[in-house]
Amino acid sequence: MMRFWKIGGLLCLAACAHGSEAPPPTERPRETAHYTVTIFDNFGGARVRVCLEPATMLELVPIDDSASGQLRGAWSDGTPLDTTNGRIRLQQASGTPCVDYETRFGRSWFRARGSSAVVLSQTQWLWRPDPFPRELDATVRFILPAGGQVSLPWPQSHALYFPDASAFFTDTYGVFGSFDRQAFSVGGTSVVVARLGDQPSDDEVRRWLGRAVRTVASVDDRFPRDRLHFVLVPVDSPAEQVAFGMLRRGGGSSILLLPSLDATVSQLEADWVAIHELSHLWLPRLYSEGRWLSEGIATYLQEVLRARCGLQSADRAWTRLREGFARGRRSGTGRALASESRNMNRTGAYHRVYWAGAAFAFEADVRLRQSSRGEMTLLAALGRAQRTSGAEARLVSASVFLEALEEASGAGFIEELGKRYAARSSFPDTTFMDLPEYRDVRAQIMESAEGACGISAESSR
Ligand SMILES: [Zn+2]
Repeated sequence: MMRFWKIGGLLCLAACAHGSEAPPPTERPRETAHYTVTIFDNFGGARVRVCLEPATMLELVPIDDSASGQLRGAWSDGTPLDTTNGRIRLQQASGTPCVDYETRFGRSWFRARGSSAVVLSQTQWLWRPDPFPRELDATVRFILPAGGQVSLPWPQSHALYFPDASAFFTDTYGVFGSFDRQAFSVGGTSVVVARLGDQPSDDEVRRWLGRAVRTVASVDDRFPRDRLHFVLVPVDSPAEQVAFGMLRRGGGSSILLLPSLDATVSQLEADWVAIHELSHLWLPRLYSEGRWLSEGIATYLQEVLRARCGLQSADRAWTRLREGFARGRRSGTGRALASESRNMNRTGAYHRVYWAGAAFAFEADVRLRQSSRGEMTLLAALGRAQRTSGAEARLVSASVFLEALEEASGAGFIEELGKRYAARSSFPDTTFMDLPEYRDVRAQIMESAEGACGISAESSR
């Protein structure tokens, strides 16, 4: 997620749209929840019927408290239910397993010129049972206005979606309305792309995003997810090829990208935003004080992977890292990096957090390569650590992830190095990167890895 400092209007979404940080609780036996969601009023709201079996859940609650004001009412057999604070009390439902509720959508932040489709978080219409069952079999079926479609990152069979537990705790992007939807696969990963507006063309989308997925897969010769969902909203952005990008993980990986209407497919391929967002999938979701680590590693990878896979030269990658470190050094509020990360959406210290984190990634990569005589790298450690953590959407602390990285790398310094960065209030020293004795390791970091980048057939057309 970057470039938001240039798109002020999107900032609230970036800052405010995060779902609850609490992990799903684990109690009670397997239950079912079947949702039928009728979208009405020109995609302005939803009437939802949810049938719960057995009817032992006490309330339906919003995923994100900020959506509670959008609830217009709830009924059981036509009788109004108590909806204080946006929570629907079910004990009044007197034995009937189905409840109706109605929400109005807040303003859609992302609209493409000439498109009537809206990009919405599921927190606008999905209320979850509470207490949340340990195992819930949930289905969601949509009834849409004529000509309307829906696209979500959840497993789907025909008209039925099957959201997992994370879809009830972590927000994600969905698209409603009239839009282009295409599906293809890259290696073993199924990709669905919902595009608002006419461009880039289907072929260009396949080429751009196919190559981005392969580039990020080069970290460990595989992509860390079986399924990916993209939402493309083309915008006027003369200065940048991709004006904005953001990843959400509720029920699956959904990446929103705002490509410029002026960008050619080669420019889109060479741009860093899609690579950055996809790189996040090598890491778990981290709590806000650990964002220096997740954003830092994604920022480092966006430069290194593009150089390794021929999307930019090694010289340009080093220049961009040097310039980024200089920007990071100039920004910030003097807080320790962990605290700077926690307060970033309020203080705007994005450059400090992203680039101090990238300096950590760079130092860790250099030290891993040197201490192992080139046998271990940050990329290999990320790949190994991800095999252990899997695709969970659960939030993890920076120290847990650093421990996993240390174990995966077999090196004894990662946790200590990470702790030092997290506590540091001045920008780290990166001047060693230009010393002559680091010339070899610099060359290794940006060394072409086209064999691992899978640049062939479909993706390089
Ligand atoms: Zn990011």
